[in-house]
Amino acid sequence: MSDLSAWTLSLGALLGVVVLIIMAARSFAGEPARGRRRCPRCWHELGPASESSSRLTCAECGFAATSEREVTRNRRRLGRAALAILGVVAIVGAMRVRLLDRGAWSMMPTSVLLLATKHLGETNTHRSAGWELVQRMRAGTITPDSAREALTLFIEGDSDARPPSAAWLTKYRDLGMIALNRVASDDPLRARLLEIPPSFTISALAGCAIDDRIAPPLLVVDALVFWPSGAEGTLTLDFADGSTRTVAFHPDARQTSLVLDMPTSTKPGEALSLTMHHRVGDASTPLRINIPVPPFSLVPKLSWAPIDTPALRTAITDAFADGLTVWNEGAPRGGLRFDARVTGGEEFLDTALGLSVEVCEDGVPRRTSRLWWSGGGRITQPRWLPSIEDADAMERLLKEESDETRDDRGGATRPRWTLRITGDESLAHYAARVRSSADAALQLSAAEPSKTSWFSGTIEVPLRILRVHAPPPRRRWKTLEK
Ligand SMILES: [Zn+2]
Repeated sequence: MSDLSAWTLSLGALLGVVVLIIMAARSFAGEPARGRRRCPRCWHELGPASESSSRLTCAECGFAATSEREVTRNRRRLGRAALAILGVVAIVGAMRVRLLDRGAWSMMPTSVLLLATKHLGETNTHRSAGWELVQRMRAGTITPDSAREALTLFIEGDSDARPPSAAWLTKYRDLGMIALNRVASDDPLRARLLEIPPSFTISALAGCAIDDRIAPPLLVVDALVFWPSGAEGTLTLDFADGSTRTVAFHPDARQTSLVLDMPTSTKPGEALSLTMHHRVGDASTPLRINIPVPPFSLVPKLSWAPIDTPALRTAITDAFADGLTVWNEGAPRGGLRFDARVTGGEEFLDTALGLSVEVCEDGVPRRTSRLWWSGGGRITQPRWLPSIEDADAMERLLKEESDETRDDRGGATRPRWTLRITGDESLAHYAARVRSSADAALQLSAAEPSKTSWFSGTIEVPLRILRVHAPPPRRRWKTLEK
């Protein structure tokens, strides 16, 4: 049902009610005799009564009336009146159901809803004009032109709800997402989505002074953008100490937060500037946002103990048993495959796992991952810092014909490529500060960490390699060379 026919339907219902009421009234009022004498059955005129005979028998149908009163009756159509009233009751009932179900806006045409949503300053609550618009779009009852207008409304917002404010997001997000599905994929209006400024969610994780070094505070960033599909960009972070980080951003890729180590001198509340560029073709439009560094503290070294047990070593070895995937292009070329759930045993409940995982070529580290999670039943989402890798070494790894080499003394072979997993107290410290796995966002614990130990061992195992002769999957955030 198109919007127009929906609207015609409510108009039609109204018109129907009016017609039926008139019909009922007229049927009830009837046709008074006004001097005419009529057969009460077929309403044939009997003609004037003469002196001699009162002529009570109908010449048309043969009905014989018994009195003069019968032939001078008002011709009421009570059956028709009753039917008309039933009709009114039915229509009003149906409209009332829609009114109760969908609210008064459901009676309005879509063009009125679009105007009301923009100008009434209503939030997108149940049965508001905006809500009704969303319902109509879900039901597919609006025209392509109205869908484009709705998308324009999403892009522009209104004076009370400017993109990308929280008010705008609440009011227009649903509308925009549905409108996008209703607007053709090559519609030039989609390019205007780039006008919506990105919004950022930012948190910080406390750093820690550990003996002679400092685990730097971490910055966790994600961006919410509504760019047309295929649009990509870069984010540049300028810290107060003058240092800069640049990362590539692919909004279409699986959503993960960017985790970066901040300069150790960074203090909460200090100015941080985020500059987002988007690239569509050759066009690049920067957007700069200044926000304070979120609160965090430099916490003292935890009073916990290093731990290195055979059970823990087995679990960690198993976690990395899938080894490394190497793709034939892109940066980073490699992707470490691991399964943190292997360390979910209750015996690891008090242990924080901070691991530096190195891919070594003949014992020389060529690729380093720094990741952390907490062991035990309520395992936390693994997090990691951007990996550091030697692109040439990854190329050798991809091309290598044999993963083994002869020992110098001949005879035995040894693997050329190994995985060296080393427990790192500073990375474990991050794991100890993170609370639960429930939320995808990095959850920061204000309470004292409950972990009493950190894995301190080193494990070296032959590297399992999966060579993939295809480009790597897109990553949402990718650190670029400084
Ligand atoms: Zn008759």
